[in-house]
Amino acid sequence: MIDPTACIIGWPIDHSRSPLIHRHWLSELGIAGDYVALPVEPGHAEGFFRAFAESGFVGGNVTAPHKEAAFRAVHAMDDNAAALGAVNTIWLDGGQLVGANTDVHGFLANLDECAPDWDKRDGSALVLGAGGVARAVIWGLLGRDFESIRVANRTAERAETLAAQFGRGVIPVEWADLPETLGQASIIVNCTSLGMENNPPLEIGLEPVRPGTVVNDLIYVPLETPLIRDAKNRDLVAVGGLGMLLHQAVPGFQKWFGHRPVVTDELRRLVARDILARS
Ligand code: NAP
Repeated sequence: MIDPTACIIGWPIDHSRSPLIHRHWLSELGIAGDYVALPVEPGHAEGFFRAFAESGFVGGNVTAPHKEAAFRAVHAMDDNAAALGAVNTIWLDGGQLVGANTDVHGFLANLDECAPDWDKRDGSALVLGAGGVARAVIWGLLGRDFESIRVANRTAERAETLAAQFGRGVIPVEWADLPETLGQASIIVNCTSLGMENNPPLEIGLEPVRPGTVVNDLIYVPLETPLIRDAKNRDLVAVGGLGMLLHQAVPGFQKWFGHRPVVTDELRRLVARDILARS
C-alpha cells in the first residue's frame, strides 16, 4: 500500500515551510506518510482540483494565488471558508472534494497561546490591511465577540468595501488618521505585507498605544519585524506571526493523517532555524 501523502499547491511555492512542518509531525508521531510542495501555475488550479480524486493525494493545502479557485472547486466547505470565500485546506470525502479555511483557527490559536485573555479586554481592535488575511482576522475577531473593529488600508476603498461586507461593528478608518486611532484598540493586527523581508517596514508610531495593548504582526519573515521590536521596547504585548502559520496547519494534518499534532517549542525552533537560514 502507498503511504498517505498530502501536498501544498501555490505559485510560487519554493518558499513554503509547510513540508517542513508536516514532515516534522509525521516523524514525531511515527506515521508513514509524506507531504510535498507542488508548483501549480495560475490558470492550472481548476484542472488540478477537477482531477484531485484521481491524484493519489489524501488532501492538501492551497496557498496564493489559488485559494479562491479552491473555494469554487469544492463540493462542500466549513463555515469559515464560506464566510471568507477562500479555501486553504482540502481533502476527499466519499470521493468528493471538501474544503476548509484554517487561517482563522491559526490566528486565534496563536493569540490564545501567546497572549492569554487577549480577547477578554474591551472588545476593540484595529486591523491594518484589507487583503485576504485581513478578512480572516476580522472574521476571527467577530467570532470572539469584538464589538468595534477598525480597518485601515493604504487603498481606502478596499477597507470601506471590506467593512461594508461585514457590517456590525467593522468600521473603515483613514490611514492618515492612525495616530488618533491607535490608542483606541486593545489589539492591533498587521495584516499588510509591510515589514516582510524585501518590503518596506510598517511605519506607524506606537506612542499613542495604551499599555497592555496586544500588537500582533502576521509577518514571520523576518521572525522579529521592526513593528514587533518596537512593541517589545515599549512593553506592549508583542505576538509574531510564526505561531499562526504553525497553528493553521494543525486541522489539515489531523484530517489527512488521523492524529491531532501539537505546536511545540521544538517545532517553533525548527521552522525559525529554516527562516534564519534562508533569509
Ligand atoms: P494581500 O491580499 O495581497 O493583501 C496585502 C495587503 O498589504 C493589502 O492590504 C495591501 O494594501 C497592503 N500593502 C501592500 N503593500 C503595501 C504598502 N507598500 N503600503 C501599505 N500597504 C501595503 O495579502 P494577504 O494574503 O492578505 O497577506 C498579507 C500578509 O500577511 C502577507 O505578507 C503574508 O505573508 C502575511 N500572512 C501571514 C500569515 C501567517 O500565517 N502568519 C497568513 C497569511 C498571510 P492595498 O490594498 O493598498 O494594496
